Amino acid sequence: MNEWVNGPGVALTLSLVAAMPVTPAGAQSRAIEFPDVGGYRTLAVDLHTHSVFSDGSVWPVIRVQESERDGVALLAVTEHLEYQPRAADIPNPDRNRAFAVAAEYAGAEAPGVIVVNGAEISRDMPPGHCNAVFLSDANALLRDDVMEVFEEANRQDAFVFWNHPNWIPQRRDGVARLTDMHRGLIADGLLHGIEVANAHVYSAEALQIALDYDLAILGVSDIHGLVDWEYDVHGGGHRTVTLVLAEERTAESIREALHANRTAAWKDNELIGREEVVVPLLEASLRVLDVRVRRGSVLTVTLVNRSGASFNLLSVGPQRFYDRGAVVNVGPYETVAVSVTGENRADFELSFAVLNALVAPETHPTLQIAVEVPE
Ligand SMILES: [Zn+2]
Ligand SMILES: [Zn+2]
Repeated sequence: MNEWVNGPGVALTLSLVAAMPVTPAGAQSRAIEFPDVGGYRTLAVDLHTHSVFSDGSVWPVIRVQESERDGVALLAVTEHLEYQPRAADIPNPDRNRAFAVAAEYAGAEAPGVIVVNGAEISRDMPPGHCNAVFLSDANALLRDDVMEVFEEANRQDAFVFWNHPNWIPQRRDGVARLTDMHRGLIADGLLHGIEVANAHVYSAEALQIALDYDLAILGVSDIHGLVDWEYDVHGGGHRTVTLVLAEERTAESIREALHANRTAAWKDNELIGREEVVVPLLEASLRVLDVRVRRGSVLTVTLVNRSGASFNLLSVGPQRFYDRGAVVNVGPYETVAVSVTGENRADFELSFAVLNALVAPETHPTLQIAVEVPE
C-alpha cells in the first residue's frame, strides 16, 4: 500500500496529484501502521500480555481478537510463572495452556496474528520481572533458582528481556538501574532486550541501558484488562508495542529482527529507538507530495504522512515560512502544506527535529526532507 507516494522531492505531475486520494485504504482503521523501510517489513508486535491464566481479566481468545484489530503481527502470551491469583477458579497446572488456547483460536479464526508462547519470570529485584518469549515449554521454567530459569529459557532459544525496570514497587524512585546480576546475564548472553516503554510508562534510563549494553529497545502493552479501555483506542489512542523491521512476516523473521536490535518502541504516539531504525521510519513516513510556486519566489511544499502516527515537527533549518512559525504538526495520513519564503532558486532540504521521537534520552532525531525546486 502507499506505492503511489514517490521518494522525497520527486516531482509528480500536478493533474495526477489532484486525482489521487490522499487517504489510503487503511487510514480509518485502528491498526498500527508504519511504512516498510529498507527492504524490511515494519511489523507491530506485543511481547507482554496477560489473561485469566495469571492475573489478567480476559480469556486468551480476546487477546487474539484485539491483536487482529490493532494490526499486531505477533502476540506473545506471557503469564506470570510465580503469580496465579485465579488458580482457585482456573486451576490448570499446564503453563502452556493460555498459549494453546490463543494459538488454536488464531489458527482457526485469525490467521493474520502469529501467537507465540512465553512466560513472565516474576521475582523480587534483582532481577525483577523478565519475559521469555518464543518458548517451547513454559513448564520447564518452574524452578527455584532464577539463574536456572534464564538458562532453561535460553536452552529453548527464547528471546529474554527485562520488564518494567523502573516499576515503582521495585524501584521506588522510578529510575531503572542495572545490578550485578543483570550485568552478568547480559555478559553471558542470557538477556537480550529491555522494556523502554511498558504500557504508559517510559524509562529514559532503560533507553540508555539498551544503547550502552546493546539490548533490543522494546515497548509492550503488559495488558491485563482490555486494550480498548486501557488505551482509549476509540479516542485515537493505541496500545504500546514494539515496531520490528523483519525480513518476512513470520515468527522466525521477527525473532531474528529482535536479536538484531531492529526495533523501536511505539508508546502514546512517541517513537523511541536507535537512530538507524527511527530515522528510516521517519523518512518512509513523511514524504514530499508536491512542490509548486505559491507566488513570487515563495514555494509551497506539501508533505504527506504515510503512517498512523501524528508527528510534531520543529523546523531547525535556515528556512522560514510564510504561513506559520517553526512548528509543523502532521496527523495520521494527513497532508500539510508549508510555504517557504526566500528566493528558493536551488534545491534545498527542510530540516525538522521530530519532537515525538527519541533516539537517546532527551535527544530528538533530525529529519532531512529534500525539496526539488520546480523549473
Ligand atoms: Zn511484571
Ligand atoms: Zn506482566
